[in-house]
Amino acid sequence: SPIPDFLDETLDRFRPDRSGENADYIPDLAAADPEKLAICISTLDGVEYTSGDADHEFSIQSMSKPFIYGLALEQEGLAGVFEKVGVEPSGEKFNELSLDKKSGRPLNPMINAGAMTIHSILGDPGAGLAERTEIVRAGLSRFAGRELTIDESVADGEWREAYRNVAIANMLRSYDIFYDNPDEVVRGYIEQCAITVTVKDLAIMASTLAGGGINPLTGEQVLSPRVNRQVLAVMMTCGMYDAAGDWMTEIGIPAKSGVSGGVFGVMPGQVGIATFSPRLDRHGTSVRGAKIFQDLSDRLSLHIMDAP
Ligand code: GLN
Repeated sequence: SPIPDFLDETLDRFRPDRSGENADYIPDLAAADPEKLAICISTLDGVEYTSGDADHEFSIQSMSKPFIYGLALEQEGLAGVFEKVGVEPSGEKFNELSLDKKSGRPLNPMINAGAMTIHSILGDPGAGLAERTEIVRAGLSRFAGRELTIDESVADGEWREAYRNVAIANMLRSYDIFYDNPDEVVRGYIEQCAITVTVKDLAIMASTLAGGGINPLTGEQVLSPRVNRQVLAVMMTCGMYDAAGDWMTEIGIPAKSGVSGGVFGVMPGQVGIATFSPRLDRHGTSVRGAKIFQDLSDRLSLHIMDAP
């Protein structure tokens, strides 16, 4: 059938590109096979088209951030979360030690300072590491439509070298952004990032967002329409960090990257798209993933600002 052929042919054109480097600060990511390459597109009724290493598992990393933001919004409401984390693009790297000068809050939930604050909100006040970690694992599983698991080897490796994230969490604690133990928030956030997915999972998660918060496999309304819109709007403006403007003008598909090499994109009302390829550019986004998204955007006219 024409769609798998189209996807095979697309991957074949980008397979020879070896530019970029694996993430090196998380041992298991540094050791990942850089040749792996995969794509999956899921329609809103959950039909999946794949090519390449579509069953290869990798850690979700920063691609967890939009979904966790959605879970926190459902729990606390938009106003409650907004008191803690803003919605303005930072124009900075994902792991910058930064707070908004005026409000004193993290600028947005897609950078690590905001994502760790969002993580700390989950559960009852004072919920510990184990409870928050399970809320995250179970919550992400609802987007994927299957029970996801945590790769503890990825989490342990990241924890041993987590100097930057520990610094960010201590900054947040010292400014009373949260009152939890900073080490527990970092460890929980690292467990969140170590949840294992395939491009098939990510495409279903993306098509849940594309379908107004309804999981196409289970039919569950995971996010309300208003929260879903909020997640996508913040993801579109902040999800690519200091490359957000470049990504939206050139590719025009709201998307989120992770340092494992995954990227997922959301075409509201249409499809969820996910790619995997470990070598990254200087923004921490997969090189071949970005090129494939650009190619799909150009050839299928997917830029959301193009008039139909
Ligand atoms: N766990 C990684 C970190 O916090 C996730 C970063 C990312 O994927 N951009 O450094």
